[in-house]
Parts: sequence; C-alpha cells; structure tokens
Amino acid sequence: METTNLNKQFPLMIPYITPDDIAAVTEVLQSGMLIQGKHVGLLENKIRQIANVKEAVAVSNGTATLHLALISLGIGKGDEVIVPAFSYVATANVVELVGATPVFVDIDSDTFNIDVSKIKAVITEKTKAIIPVHEFGLACNISEVISIALTNKIHVIEDAACALGAKENEQPVGSFGIVASFSLHPRKSVTSGEGGIITTNNQELAAKFRALRNHGIDSENTDSMEFILAGYNYRLTDFQAAFVNSQLERFDQILTQKQMLADVYLNELDASVMKLPVVPDGKNHTWQTFHVVLEEKINRAQLIAALKERGIGSNYGAQCIPATKYYQEKYGFNNKASFPYAYRAYTSGLALPLYYGLTKEDVKYIATEINKSIKNDL
Ligand SMILES: *Cc1c(COP(=O)(O)O)cnc(C)c1O
Repeated sequence: METTNLNKQFPLMIPYITPDDIAAVTEVLQSGMLIQGKHVGLLENKIRQIANVKEAVAVSNGTATLHLALISLGIGKGDEVIVPAFSYVATANVVELVGATPVFVDIDSDTFNIDVSKIKAVITEKTKAIIPVHEFGLACNISEVISIALTNKIHVIEDAACALGAKENEQPVGSFGIVASFSLHPRKSVTSGEGGIITTNNQELAAKFRALRNHGIDSENTDSMEFILAGYNYRLTDFQAAFVNSQLERFDQILTQKQMLADVYLNELDASVMKLPVVPDGKNHTWQTFHVVLEEKINRAQLIAALKERGIGSNYGAQCIPATKYYQEKYGFNNKASFPYAYRAYTSGLALPLYYGLTKEDVKYIATEINKSIKNDL
C-alpha cells in the first residue's frame, strides 16, 4: 500500500505546546506581575531537583548563562579556555566576548562529544577553564574531564544547553562542574521561547549570578536596594517561566517519547551509508537532536533538497566552530588536519526531525525516504 504521509510536513522541530501551557502563560499576563517573580522561583526549584544541585538561577537565554559563568570566575584577557571544536558557536563566542582565547579540541566520532584524550596536550599555564559540551543531549565523559581539570587546577563550566535530564552513571549533568549552563530555546526539550538556567553548588557564585542578572542589585538583601556590582539585565520574565514550568510537568514523558522515536531511527536508517549515533554504557541520551554523519560520497545539499521536497526538514547539526568565518579569519586553523572529526561532522552531519508529536510510523516513513533518497543519489 502507498504511504499515507505524502501530505504531512515534518520540520526539524515543533515545540510541544498544550492548552495547559497557554493557560499558564495567560494567568501570569492577567496577574500583571510580568518579570522574575513566583514562577521564576518555581522554575529554579524544579531545575535544582532535575540537576541535583543546590542553586539554580534563571536568566534570559543560554548564552547569557555561559557569559555570567566566565565573568563570575574572573576569566578574561590573557586567559585560555578549552572548548570542543564541534558545538553551537555560542560556546566559543562567550570566550571571545570576555576577551579570552578559545582553544579548540576535536571530538569523538561516535558521540560528537569532546575527545577527552586530547585535552591534556592543549593545557598551558594560561588555561583557566574548560567548557565541555553535552552535545545533542548526551553527557560527555564528564567525570574524566573533571579529573583532568582537578589535576591541572582549571574550572569546568558544563555547557548542558541541550542536555537537561542527561546523566553519567546516574549523576545528572549540571552537577559536575563548578557551574553549568542550560538553555530553554525552542530547539531544546522544554522551552520558554528564550531562556536559560545556570546551576552550581557554590552559594557565593549563585549570589553573584543573581546580582549580575539584575543590574548588580544585592540579591541577598533585597530590602536594601543596594547595587553591589555593575550588572546586566539578563532577567527571565515570569510568563516565560510559567510556560516552561507547565511543560516540565510532562518532562519524563517527553524524554521517553523521544527515546522511542530515536530507537525507530536506529533500527530503520541504513547504517551502511551513514554513521548512526552511539550511546555509551552508563549514559542516557535525551535526544535534543538525532544526528547522523553521512558517507563522504553522499551529496548532503542534494539530500537535504530531496527531503525538503518530501516535506522532511533536515540540516547540519552543529558547527565546526574554528571553521566558521570569524574564527577562521582570526586564527587561520587548518581544520581538516587539526579537527578531523569535528570537520567531518560539520560537513557531512545531518540532523533529522525528532520531537514529541511524531509517531513511530512518521519516523519510519522519514527513515525510509532518507534511505531511498541516498540510494537514488549513489
Ligand atoms: C542552544 C545552545 C546554546 C545557546 O543557547 P541559547 O539559549 O540559544 O542562547 C549554547 N550551547 C549549546 C551547545 C547549545 O546547543
């Protein structure tokens, strides 16, 4: 029988928004209390539980959390910060923005996470921090990163932007580094539109984040209205917090559904023409992105166009950051030689539709169309 999916559209991502989520937002709008109130506090409590940390501070977006982390740890001019060569550009941009220098390390070709065996070689006396990324929702080898960092006295700032709910040996990401960063962008599992959360077990740092997000106001002593730092406005609104709180009520359900859909991809996609993602023992994948790397002989642009004609969205998954124009022009890297796996993932990687609301049949259809398109092309 012919497939029934011909008229269906499968973009890369559709946020999962229910009438309850909308009602939660409406309620805050009707209250007139729009900025950083009760719902921001509730959101911070929820994240503290999920990430198993003492402190969570909500801010306006994920990039702002990384920015506050670097500033609060005193990282700036003359300092070096180690960053994986394959991630979203924001991970390296924040290092540039505080005047420090990003030092890139290649990734592991199975997991797209930083290759821990290559970290030691780039540590110098200028290295102040490392920002390991839990790419696409899978924890990197974070315990190993922590142990290298301890030996070399450098800070670990986890970029867990895509990885809320991910774990290594039952310990949630966000609880390993001195600080960690989460994003609530619509491409992540739960979203506030724009939003971010910074987690830490260090109360002094948390107080600094609270001051810095709100013009430098003393958050410990709210009656004083005293400004103790030159801060930013990185606040989250209360209706955004209420929106994401409502989604967090079904967070487990979202992750379970995504795992089920990812399993369909893993079973159906033709592994002879692409490298499928690997989930190592001791980790759960939260599948922010389902990302494959195509055989080099496959023309990715042609495949993306062919899939688009069938209503299937796809795109590259993340950047080989040193190969993007700004970094290439500033530092002149030889990307293919220095970061072969990051470069491969950037040039042959493909992110596929995966979101709550797809059915197993939808994913089976998408996988079949991908296999067919590749066969036609070869
Ligand atoms: C999404 C993302 C960010 C940035 O988060 P925003 O909320 O969009 O600022 C940073 N790092 C990684 C790895 C991301 O995936």
